[in-house]
Amino acid sequence: MYDFAIIGSGVSGARIAYELTAGGATCLMIEAGKVYDRTNYPPDELGYTGRMFWGGGIEVSQDGRLGFLRGKCLGGTSVVNQADLNRFDDLAWDDWRDRSGIDYFNTPEMSPLYDHLDSRLVSNKIPTEHYNRNAQLFTESFEKCGYGWAPIVRAQSDCKFDKGSDCIVCLGGCPRDSKQSAVVTLIPTAKKQGLKIETEFAVDALDDSGPTVKIHGTQRGQRREVEAARAVLACGSFGNTTLLHRCQEIGRKLPALGTRFACHPQRMTYGIHADTVGSHKGPLQSVESHDDKLRKAGLKLENVFAPPIATSMLLPGVGMQHVELMKKYRYFSGMEVVIRDDPAGELKIDRKGNLIRAKTLTAADRAKVKKGLEIATEMHHAVGAKEVIHCEQEFGLHLMGGCPIGADANTSVVDPDFQVHGHPKLIAADSSIFPSAPGINPSFTIMALSYLASKKLLES
Ligand SMILES: Cc1cc2nc3c(=O)[nH]c(=O)nc-3n(C[C@H](O)[C@H](O)[C@H](O)COP(=O)(O)OP(=O)(O)OC[C@H]3O[C@@H](n4cnc5c(N)ncnc54)[C@H](O)[C@@H]3O)c2cc1C
Repeated sequence: MYDFAIIGSGVSGARIAYELTAGGATCLMIEAGKVYDRTNYPPDELGYTGRMFWGGGIEVSQDGRLGFLRGKCLGGTSVVNQADLNRFDDLAWDDWRDRSGIDYFNTPEMSPLYDHLDSRLVSNKIPTEHYNRNAQLFTESFEKCGYGWAPIVRAQSDCKFDKGSDCIVCLGGCPRDSKQSAVVTLIPTAKKQGLKIETEFAVDALDDSGPTVKIHGTQRGQRREVEAARAVLACGSFGNTTLLHRCQEIGRKLPALGTRFACHPQRMTYGIHADTVGSHKGPLQSVESHDDKLRKAGLKLENVFAPPIATSMLLPGVGMQHVELMKKYRYFSGMEVVIRDDPAGELKIDRKGNLIRAKTLTAADRAKVKKGLEIATEMHHAVGAKEVIHCEQEFGLHLMGGCPIGADANTSVVDPDFQVHGHPKLIAADSSIFPSAPGINPSFTIMALSYLASKKLLES
């Protein structure tokens, strides 16, 4: 029997496994996905999208308007994300404090957690001389249109741009091990500290009615049961919410289960230029908006591009019209409009236990998207784009909520000590506990919350 079973191995699960094993606890990590690392990352876009993400690449909202991405592999979404690290600002913490009734959500109390993690993480900004043409156009357009921008801090060690690398495969794992994902950093160290790992093990039921927690699931076609004194639920927004809904004895006593789902909806825009831009080569992402006006309007603009298959799915049109657009791929600059959405989505399950993602953008969200697209259009034209394309498909990469944290058991699922209300043997500190969308990349804060939860667990 283990002290802790940690279900899910992503940003939160890996951090908690590392901290608890460092503190001397016996831990088992359970992960639904397979093991991928630099020796076996699928080499092409179709291969990694199909194998390393849930839903064979993409999952969709109930109305089909939003596509969602989340990693399914040891290390979770940390293996397939863009690794940008951002701290929350006062605006985000004030909103969380108001919604959750938790006093420690404030900059002075949370900053030391970020500082602690920062001192142990390898992170970098892309040096200006290695910006690709897309990033150069992006910064030029910010200056011309009067918006502030800043270089992105990314959890990466050395992408070897000075040696001519033009690698853009962050979303398919990192064959250079430059990206500091959990499979490169925390999980190997936690293993040395005694962590046991079971992969391809999808958990579908929990029983915490006795003195321990019994965890049931299927591993490579076989039913399995494992037991631990406590269980850490680190399956992310969709995973944790689905699991608790399926455990009816637990889920039906949690009135807020499935509420406050948000995802920072994004819309890709492309500018078509007369000369080659080559956005598909060089650092995937170097800069982002850093501007009070945009922040207050709930908007963020990111300098980013997508590989060819993803781009072909995002572009509008069919038949020869679509083919003609794809032929211009090298001439595209890319800019992403991201909004800070209302956490008005709801995560439910159907009678077969499948997740229903009820998420339709509110009128306020739609107004933000419209404003963001107008600004992106102005910015593309300011640096010479002949034509600007707004991709119709909206997608969410930051899946948040479903098990929101808060002091009141009627409006939240997890209490200020990261225990599921009424179930002290069940712990969660991952993206599922977000009480609202911060409008800021979530990973660094998931790490901070998970570190705090680990400290509380070790103290108890
Ligand atoms: C393409 C992309 C780019 C992104 N870029 C950034 C970025 O630059 N910066 C940033 O801050 N954020 C980024 N994000 C978001 C960020 O990666 C996530 O918010 C974060 O990983 C969530 O952490 P988590 O621990 O909650 O869940 P995850 O990291 O998703 O981990 C959950 C794990 O649980 C496993 N699991 C789920 N259900 C079960 C089950 N029933 N049984 C067993 N295991 C299960 C999953 O397979 C997964 O491994 C990006 C996301 C995507 C998709």
